[in-house]
Amino acid sequence: MTVQTSPQDKAAAPAPGSASGSATDPLAALRDRAVWIFDLDNTLYPASCDLFSQVDRRINEFIATHFNIGMDEARVRQKQFFREYGTTLRGLMMEHDVDPVAYMDYVHDIDVTGVQPSALLADALGRLPGRKIIYTNGSVRHAENVAGRLGILDRFEAVFDIAAGGFVPKPDPRPYATLVERHGVDPADACMVEDIARNLAPAHALGMTTAWVRGEKEYEKAGVGAGIHIDHTVDDLPSWLAAVAGL
Ligand SMILES: [Mg+2]
Repeated sequence: MTVQTSPQDKAAAPAPGSASGSATDPLAALRDRAVWIFDLDNTLYPASCDLFSQVDRRINEFIATHFNIGMDEARVRQKQFFREYGTTLRGLMMEHDVDPVAYMDYVHDIDVTGVQPSALLADALGRLPGRKIIYTNGSVRHAENVAGRLGILDRFEAVFDIAAGGFVPKPDPRPYATLVERHGVDPADACMVEDIARNLAPAHALGMTTAWVRGEKEYEKAGVGAGIHIDHTVDDLPSWLAAVAGL
């Protein structure tokens, strides 16, 4: 297990007027990756935007309405589904045959105005030569909503969402294989960027470079230093990506 903490973003950027980075610069070596795969939530926007608290409330509302129960009981059921199936949706589908599209539409119908547009991120993504794909356990609609708000939607050629992965969420390795096949990705020439470290394990197993957007929550950092291979640790995605892009 290796955790390589990337050099400071600014220090790693090539000096003005220099060539596009030396072979020993780990960020310059990333610049020409053919494909970039980005998680969406708490990766392309900071966790401090806290969109998840809205989604969490909508999930419990969905359960309360579906089973005609109160919010407290809904929370208990939600935690049971999450524990037993990895995601609430998986539990609702397996035990109660809930329509996943209706569920995803409901829980992601949120206000994204707390997300601030990022010109630096848009510039960095525009400057990077590789193809870019969003890979989310959420829906295409949610990804378009958030990426549109960030001002970066047109930087991506595709969104690979929970439906594209057959409603099997990360970190199950099966949807990663589907993504690679469907989008013609050579994993050895791809980099995946994620805030939940364990979601990078299947990417590394396929041969991708991994970049972990450091998160403070236990579920985000679980496995770091204990078996999950991290090639790059990122504290601020826009400035890190700008350094990679040579901005
Ligand atoms: Mg995430």
